[in-house]
Amino acid sequence: AMEIITRFAPSPNGRLHLGHVFSAYIAAQFARARNGICLLRIEDIDIGRAREEHVDAISSDLSWIGLSYAAPVLRQSTRFAVYQTHLNRLRELGVLYPCWATRSEIRQHIEAAPGGLKAWPRDPDGALVYPGLYRDISLSKRQAMMWEGRDYAWRLDIKKAQAMAEADNGGPLFFTECYSTECYSEDLSMKQKKQIQVDAHKFGDVVIARKDVPTSYHLSVVIDDAFQKISHVTRGADLLAATHIQRILQALLEIPAPVYAHHPLIRHLDGRRFSKTAGDTGFRELEALGWSPDRIIEHLPRPVGLGDAVSRDTLSKQLSEALTDVMS
Ligand code: GLU
Repeated sequence: AMEIITRFAPSPNGRLHLGHVFSAYIAAQFARARNGICLLRIEDIDIGRAREEHVDAISSDLSWIGLSYAAPVLRQSTRFAVYQTHLNRLRELGVLYPCWATRSEIRQHIEAAPGGLKAWPRDPDGALVYPGLYRDISLSKRQAMMWEGRDYAWRLDIKKAQAMAEADNGGPLFFTECYSTECYSEDLSMKQKKQIQVDAHKFGDVVIARKDVPTSYHLSVVIDDAFQKISHVTRGADLLAATHIQRILQALLEIPAPVYAHHPLIRHLDGRRFSKTAGDTGFRELEALGWSPDRIIEHLPRPVGLGDAVSRDTLSKQLSEALTDVMS
């Protein structure tokens, strides 16, 4: 039988909030229920925002809640040379183009378009779709721009990339999604898996490498999931749409695709998502209110198969109220 390996892959841009704990717990539980292992990976490619103190806090918060991971923990910041090699491969395939567009240039272009900002398409994450500036410039213009020496990013020509991946594959691409409440139990039979057909066009030409680092979230995540032989990626449903892009990169780079299990996001009682920006940091503050790790775990939403059936997308009232106290 296949070895089950899951992972929890936080970006150390802030403290963990309860949504992270939930996600980490699912990754651990998914593996544990199938005699597999769960790895921790620190996604610290954002050299401007990643901080060592957050890495330390992540480790201590996870161990406080009772989750432990095999050492050494993979740090993405040690792997820029590997990402560069894969980036070069994508360049050779001709699916990337250098993009010099600044934020204000993109903004101006969109505002000048018929209908303006309001009518402009947004990607599944709600961001404005990149207008394709610098995609279709002539080779001589591109060379001249290179000579000028201004900073540029590498963008994926999404239509070309998807078409090439499909041509290589001899037909449409798919990824396997297996989230269901049953995915918490040991039994994960074929009938609970569905094949989702890849359609990444609505993302537009995403950034694959930034001006200061030879990678991006999408590139390094697929490389490291393959490198760590992750069999099942469990992560929040907010990353389901991004899987379309990631599946194309896996096909073009000829690296294996894991099975995906995107779980619902936990929410506050009023329906708001947990997020770093909303100040939902530091679930550890619950400690001061007398919450033990076990008690927090008990109060996490628990789909059928893992214990009591409680609401799947709502926190227990008690826990949510405690968090409100912590934050005010
Ligand atoms: N590092 C990403 C984050 O913190 C998650 C990556 C993933 O699970 O694919 O949001």
